[in-house]
Amino acid sequence: MEKKINITIFNENYHDSNDYCVRHYPNGMHNAIKKGLEVDPCFNITIATQDMEECGLTDEVINNTDVMFWWGHIKHNEVPDHIVNKVHQRVLKGMGLVVLHSGHFSKIFKKLMGTGCDLKWRCSNDKERFWCVNPSHPIANGIPQQFTLDQEEMYGEHFDIPAPDELVFISWFSGGEVFRSGCTFRRGNGKIFYFRPGHESCPSYNNEYVLKVLRNAAHWACPAEATFQHYGKFDSLENPEVQ
Ligand code: ZN
Repeated sequence: MEKKINITIFNENYHDSNDYCVRHYPNGMHNAIKKGLEVDPCFNITIATQDMEECGLTDEVINNTDVMFWWGHIKHNEVPDHIVNKVHQRVLKGMGLVVLHSGHFSKIFKKLMGTGCDLKWRCSNDKERFWCVNPSHPIANGIPQQFTLDQEEMYGEHFDIPAPDELVFISWFSGGEVFRSGCTFRRGNGKIFYFRPGHESCPSYNNEYVLKVLRNAAHWACPAEATFQHYGKFDSLENPEVQ
């Protein structure tokens, strides 16, 4: 039996009770993502929403999470700094983080990137064509060379992020724009994946390829046994009397 991966899905859960969201996600976006992930028996999934006490991100939840998914949009600034700092520390120690769509402006993503993370956008139900530009990457496993989402919000370059460690997907939109839609980063011992689709009024989290990317990303970002290191004073291995 493969090791279980503890996943926490954080959702701001603000749009999710509105008609434009409910028609695609009757139980909220977090539950659509959960449904897409839980077909993999390796995943142990916890839901955290911003309306829960401590945003659902208690010390116990954070410290037991291997990979956190983050969806937020208009209430980024209402996530308390002390919670963001704890998530940030956990990423530096080794926790994986998958930042979704408008999470590009979340406190945690901006803190990890150190840049403005701004971009161009337009809500006009553009067609989005996804291209895989890194077909041997584990996150692209089982994803065709290209697939389309018939309606999505447009995100366009320039995307104000540091140069990604790896680029896995790029998008083209029917308005003519392009965007770096699947980017990996490492900060400390943690792996971070930014994945673009997932506007609240579009059904992208029902798309089989989008959900497959999320499952792949959870496996990729999951820390290895040796990831969580001990730092500080260290006794000599060769001369135990040397302290
Ligand atoms: Zn959006």
